[in-house]
Amino acid sequence: MDRLLNFSAGPSAIALEVLQEAQRDLVSYKGSGVSIMEVSHRGKVFEALHNETIALVREFYALGDEYAVLFLQGGGTLQFSQTVANLYNGGVAEYANTGVWTQKAIKEAKIAGIKFDVVASSEADKFAYIPKFEFSDTADYGYICSNNTIYGTQYATLPTPKCPLVVDSSSDLFSREVDFKRHNIGCFFGGAQKNAGPAGVTIVIVRRDLLDRVGDNVPMILRYKTQVEANSLSNTPPTFGIYMLNLVLKWLKKLGGLKAVDEQNREKANLLYDYIDASGGFYTAHAQKGSRSLMNVSFVSKSSELDAAFVKEAEVAGMIGLKGHKLLGGLRASIYNAVSLSDVKKLVEFMERFKNSNL
Ligand SMILES: *Cc1c(COP(=O)(O)O)cnc(C)c1O
Repeated sequence: MDRLLNFSAGPSAIALEVLQEAQRDLVSYKGSGVSIMEVSHRGKVFEALHNETIALVREFYALGDEYAVLFLQGGGTLQFSQTVANLYNGGVAEYANTGVWTQKAIKEAKIAGIKFDVVASSEADKFAYIPKFEFSDTADYGYICSNNTIYGTQYATLPTPKCPLVVDSSSDLFSREVDFKRHNIGCFFGGAQKNAGPAGVTIVIVRRDLLDRVGDNVPMILRYKTQVEANSLSNTPPTFGIYMLNLVLKWLKKLGGLKAVDEQNREKANLLYDYIDASGGFYTAHAQKGSRSLMNVSFVSKSSELDAAFVKEAEVAGMIGLKGHKLLGGLRASIYNAVSLSDVKKLVEFMERFKNSNL
């Protein structure tokens, strides 16, 4: 079977064995005679799968009872406003602006008319680094994006504020261990389609003591509280997405869990960054050292013409998804969990061939 090497930013690569298992079970889930897509979200079969998936998320992040795990819809993008509606408490919310995704979240705070401060920004430097800052102890919450998918930057370690921390982890979900207590995480979310399966389900982890902050005028379905009380079954959840998330998490567990995958991700990213840094200026990474993403490696070659040729020739060589986001341009290799070390080695070999024929 011909499978391409997939370096897409999202939706993105899913492990072949996960796809094959889904294919095997597609028309008759575990011999039940029906597809998982065809059964009630309130029936026994789905309910068991649903609760097992929640338990896997809890296990991966070592979550205590103080946290609820929700499977919602609307993507990371809906969370930009849903966090405001549910977590603002009449004081001041604080945001760290590290790229397009935090700009969009800040815009939602503006639209909602809440009081907020942008306490740090790397915008003047094209978001090439994660700024140093501290959230105020008394802020309603401090908001960050842990991995900036477009600019290729990532918090090496998350902040440890006294106020609840809100984390958009859309593009580094399940890529490394996160200590929720230590970072005082109040809400942690991400769409599945970067590192946890196909598009359609948004994973939201919220601390229960914050659930009563929700504003009076917030629609029932947008209240975390509604979905916490209903175990995410207030309305029909994205059942197939939850099924795929289940398969991805079991695959991840077989790989050794978050600690093991983090080590693998570091090895992959180091290989790529080290190669770029040693390319004699033929390739240049966008992100500064210390802020570099282990998930999205944004870089350029010597000219935009060469970048375009790179994307074309890579496709001929069976590698897709390497064009940079239109806001930054250049090139980007997304090397999520499902992209293996050997895939990254093949990319580096291609980069070397491309360099040598364009020196
Ligand atoms: C992709 C992405 C989003 C938006 O996700 P959607 O599921 O498309 O709404 C938000 N934040 C980050 C960091 C992302 O990478």
